Amino acid sequence: MTRVSGYRQIACPNCLSVYITPSYSSINMMAFERWSDGRTVGGLYNNGGGIRSCQCGKYYRMKDAIDMGLMMETRMIEVWDDDGSETAFDLPAFLRRQEDNQLTLIELLFKIFFITKIKERFQPFTQITEVTISKPVDRKKRLVAKEVPKDFKDCEHIPLVQWASDYEMENIINFPEKYDQEIIMAARKRYWPFLNDYYREPFKTYCKHRWLPVPRFKLSNEQKENLIALLEFYQAEDDPDWVTIGELLRELSRFEEAMAAFEKAMQRSHSAADLEKLTRATRNKIAGPIPI
Ligand SMILES: [Zn+2]
Repeated sequence: MTRVSGYRQIACPNCLSVYITPSYSSINMMAFERWSDGRTVGGLYNNGGGIRSCQCGKYYRMKDAIDMGLMMETRMIEVWDDDGSETAFDLPAFLRRQEDNQLTLIELLFKIFFITKIKERFQPFTQITEVTISKPVDRKKRLVAKEVPKDFKDCEHIPLVQWASDYEMENIINFPEKYDQEIIMAARKRYWPFLNDYYREPFKTYCKHRWLPVPRFKLSNEQKENLIALLEFYQAEDDPDWVTIGELLRELSRFEEAMAAFEKAMQRSHSAADLEKLTRATRNKIAGPIPI
C-alpha cells in the first residue's frame, strides 16, 4: 500500500520558491500493466522520473531540490503510563542488604572495591545490580507532548509541488543550454514511453485477436532521435543495462544487435524467463513496445 506520512517542505533550486511534497512511509510499486519501454498503467505511485516544474518556468529534479525537512508540530498524545513497573538502580538498598550480612561499611566498601578490581581485570565493564524498588501498579493513560508530522490541512497554505506532464519533457530535452545532462536524460527516459503510447491500444487489440496483423510501429524522427540519444547514454555506462539497451535497439529495428544485448543480459543476473518475451519479439522482428 502507498502511504503518506506527512509533508516535506522543499525549495526550487533555481528560484527558491517553496512547495510541499508528500513524504511516503510505504510505496506500492504494483501496476495493472507493465510495458517493455517502462510504461506502467494503474499503479498507485508514479515518481515521474523525479521531474517537477516550478512557477519560475524551469524544471528541476526532486533530488536537486532544497530539502527543508518534514513539517512537524507538537501534539499532546495519550500513552499508557507504566509508572511503578520500571526497574531502577537503588544503591542504598543494595548497601543495606550487604549490612544485613554483618559487614561494616568500611569492610563493605573494601569488598566492593576489591571485587570491582578483579572483575575489571577479566572483563571490560562491570554491571550494577538491578533492584526493583516498587511493584507494578494498575496501568493508566497519561498525556505526553510529542513531535508528529503535520496533517495536510495544516500545510496547505504552502503550494503542493508542481507535477510535470510527459509532453512537457520536450521543454527540457530541446534546451540543453538551460539544463544539465542528468535532467535531460531523465526527461528522455520519460519521453520514450510517452511517444510510444499511440501504439498500446492497437497492440492490446492484436493480443486479444491474434488473427489480426501485428500493428505497424513506425518511428517518427523525434522518436528515433530520442531512442538513439538514450542508447548512447546507456552504452556509455560503466555497468551497462543490457535489457534496456536491447529494448532500445529492438525499437530501432536493429534486431541482431538487440539479440546480442539480451544474450549479454542473460549471462548476467537476468533469468531466461524474464527475457523470453523480449527475445521472442526480437526473433519475430516486432519493434513496438510489448506488455511484460
Ligand atoms: Zn523555481
